[in-house]
Amino acid sequence: MKKAKDIMTTKNLTRLVISMAVLMTLLATYVVATNHRSAIIGPSAPATECRSVVVVTSGDTLSKLLAEQGLGHNEITAIANILKSDAGISTLRADKDKIEFQREKDDSPVSKIVVIPSPWRQVELTCDENGAWKCNTVDIERDVRAVYRAGEILDGDSFYLAGMRAGIPAGILADVYDLLAFEMDFERDIRAGQKFSVMYEENFSEGKKIDNGRVIAISFQALRGDVNMYRFRKADGTTGYYDAEGNGAIKSLKRTPINNAKITSSFSGRRKHPVLGYTRAHKGVDFRAPTGTPIPAAGAGRVVARSYNRGHGNFVKIRHNGSYETLYAHMSRFAKGVTVGTTVRQGQIIGYAGSTGMSTGPHLHYEIIKNGKHVNPMTVKLPAISNLGAEDKKKFLEYRKVVDKAIEQLKDKPNLFIQM
Ligand SMILES: [Zn+2]
Repeated sequence: MKKAKDIMTTKNLTRLVISMAVLMTLLATYVVATNHRSAIIGPSAPATECRSVVVVTSGDTLSKLLAEQGLGHNEITAIANILKSDAGISTLRADKDKIEFQREKDDSPVSKIVVIPSPWRQVELTCDENGAWKCNTVDIERDVRAVYRAGEILDGDSFYLAGMRAGIPAGILADVYDLLAFEMDFERDIRAGQKFSVMYEENFSEGKKIDNGRVIAISFQALRGDVNMYRFRKADGTTGYYDAEGNGAIKSLKRTPINNAKITSSFSGRRKHPVLGYTRAHKGVDFRAPTGTPIPAAGAGRVVARSYNRGHGNFVKIRHNGSYETLYAHMSRFAKGVTVGTTVRQGQIIGYAGSTGMSTGPHLHYEIIKNGKHVNPMTVKLPAISNLGAEDKKKFLEYRKVVDKAIEQLKDKPNLFIQM
């Protein structure tokens, strides 16, 4: 567990630490939950050595940079191999990675190479007297602080503008967008007066803020009701976001809107059309469904079409977020109250299966359209929906109470943070 002394030495003395039973519980939960933090890095070399740091730029390769430092072909191969096998580094990223070269003297050969892929990780390569390179990865200790920011949408605002005004960094706002993407439509579901808040991590090293960490909790007064999400690590080590009750909070699209319905025709670039007789693409998946079977919306969204055409018969199209739309065809009838502009939640009945349009028998024809292009509903990559087992759920509910209490402490105090 970390001490609080650093905090008092930060420039901003108004920053205080909450150090109470609440915090200790949070810490306990958290330290148990994140066990990947390890050794503190020491001074990496005596000051007498010569060092030079190279920032990787576009077009740089490891061999090019090593050759520029006077390393020979065999050494370069050995270093590349050990970096790949021991540190999992096979390519360098421009404008992200740095490499430090150390020498005994200005004109001596390189004796140590430090690859720095992130502010929190260093890969040290040292050469022994026999000329063999060894690799050692060092995790840099980070001081993680939970901060809380709250804001409100004003007239004419976007969520982005309101978020920036609330002091939420752009990267964190982008994460929030992704987390809420299937919950709300940031283009259309934003109204003046909606309040939101985000608790997230700031990573410090030696009292200096280095970057932002992960989103810990989100709350948003959405049109369909308040949305709350908490990040939680399960016993198996995987993390997810859950609502206040511990249900998986990441909404996505269901690949099969009707549970347990049998697929009678798959998505394909080409197939022989059963009615037209000639070969054409099947842009969706057909599910067997007797006439009258209720068809639930595959995800939350807004109805953008409720119409009839010769091919689809009665169909409904829903826009879920900036990139996804779903379409349901051959309906016998539409559900009451579902019209263009209706906001629907996942699972809400939008119509009933039938055989209208070009169809040989009652079924649901279901399409997913991603960025305007039809994709295969059975294989398209969708955000993972994760649920908690009984044991995890119990732990989650305790953890959630702690986070809620912490948020209570941080509310309206933008200079306060919780050291984790
Ligand atoms: Zn079909």
